[in-house]
Parts: sequence; C-alpha cells; structure tokens
Amino acid sequence: MSYSSPSESERPAVLVIAATDSSGGAGLVRDVRVLTDHGVDALCALTAVTAQTNAEVRAVHHVPPEVVHAQILAALESRRVRAIKIGMLGAAMTVDAVVDALAAAVNETPVILDPVLVSSSGGILLDAAGRRILMSRLLPHVALITPNVPEIAALLDEPLATNEASLADQGHRLLARGARAVLIKGGHWSGATATDWLLHSAPGGREPAIAVVERIMSSRVSGASRGTGCALASGIAAGLASGLSLLDSCQQAKQYVLRMLSAR
Ligand code: PLP
Repeated sequence: MSYSSPSESERPAVLVIAATDSSGGAGLVRDVRVLTDHGVDALCALTAVTAQTNAEVRAVHHVPPEVVHAQILAALESRRVRAIKIGMLGAAMTVDAVVDALAAAVNETPVILDPVLVSSSGGILLDAAGRRILMSRLLPHVALITPNVPEIAALLDEPLATNEASLADQGHRLLARGARAVLIKGGHWSGATATDWLLHSAPGGREPAIAVVERIMSSRVSGASRGTGCALASGIAAGLASGLSLLDSCQQAKQYVLRMLSAR
C-alpha cells in the first residue's frame, strides 16, 4: 500500500490556545478545521469549555491556569510550531498563565491574537480585568492582533471609531502599546466592499509611531456567521506557518473566510 501524505515532521504546525464552543461554530473546533484545510497540523492548549448555542452563551468553565500553562509548555516541547494562534482566553488569570508560559518557552514563534471579548450572541467572553491584562501583559508578545471595530474600541476603552482616520489612530495606539502589527477588520462597517486595514511598523523604522497601512479589500457577503474571527486568525497563522509573508497570509485568509461564507 502506498502512502504519500507528508510526514508529521514535514507538515507545518500551529499551536492553538483557545476554548471550545459546544455549537461547533467558533473556537477550537473551527480553528482545527481551518488549519486542516490549509494542510497545517494543530497542537492545542484548552483555556475554557463553553456551553453555547448560536443564540446564547449558557455556561463557561475555566481550565485552571496551571493546566493552561502546562499544556502550552508540553505542546511546545512536543513539536516545533511555526505560529501560535490565541483565541478565547476567558479570564484574567488565564491571560496571566498564557503570558507566563510564552515567556518561559522563550522562542521567536509569531503569536496571532484574536481578541475574543463578546460572542456574536452577546455573551461576555473576557471581562474588563481580563482585557486590562491582555493589553498590559499579552500585547507586547503579539506579532499580530486582529480586532474588529468594536473590539479595538473596547480594548482601548475609547468610543467606537466613526471614520477611517479615527480607526487608523486606534490602530496606531495598539502598535504603541506593543503589538507588532494590527489587522483591523472592517466587517462591521457598511458598504459594498469589506475592507480590512493592516498596520505594521515601517521596515527598519525605529519609531513605532510610523506605521505602514495596507488595505485588504474584498466584496461583501451578506449575513452573519459564527466563527469568522476564529477562521481569519487561524488562516493567517496557517499562512505564516507555511512561510507566507504577513500581508499574503492576511489576504489568503480573507479569501478563505469569503469562501466559507459563500458556501453556507
Ligand atoms: N466562543 C468561543 C469559544 C470562541 O472562541 C469565539 C471566538 O473566537 C466565540 C465564541 C465568538 O465567536 P462568534 O463571534 O462567532 O460568536
């Protein structure tokens, strides 16, 4: 019998630090599906178990912080990972555990953070204390953070941006707080095109305030869907793990999400 799939050591791998969503639309189940679609293996560290339908968050059980910490170290010892994708953290103590584990592992692996704050059904998935620790301790470890318009305002504790200039200013403020790049998802804004903005420090620039802004545009697919934020960030992690540039990873992940939405 011939067996031609690439061996484990040949396939790129991503560590996913995330929670489960019992409805299967978002969270770890979605992340693993996206990585598999990209030919990338998943390692995991589970942060919380949630009981959710598409309409409500019914219960959240937080995995003890020492177990989150141990999972991350064990995963990073098991196999070389080429990117780390962080989704729902759920609590300040979990954010602390993740930061401590990433600092202990000391490696240069890019970290992609989808700041999961509220479910699309309205359930709070990270409270104010968790958001503050995310901003002060986790953000400086992050190669890319992927907020939407409400999330970037909530993280900065500022009003919602109402135009592109004020949104870009908010993106600059996340760069100034330590993120190396910011992808702002414009899906909440109306218009015929769905535009995302990628802000990153200018190559060779020593001044963090100088940022390059790239626009990633696509046609708009109507209707909401669960798990699009998870899918975009996992798609970007898969791209980086496969050797694509940050911009190419963002572009191909957006196309992947569009295909996912069109296939509903
Ligand atoms: N639940 C979990 C466990 C998640 O990880 C996420 C997003 O990452 C959500 C819910 C929110 O997803 P949605 O906006 O599709 O409700």
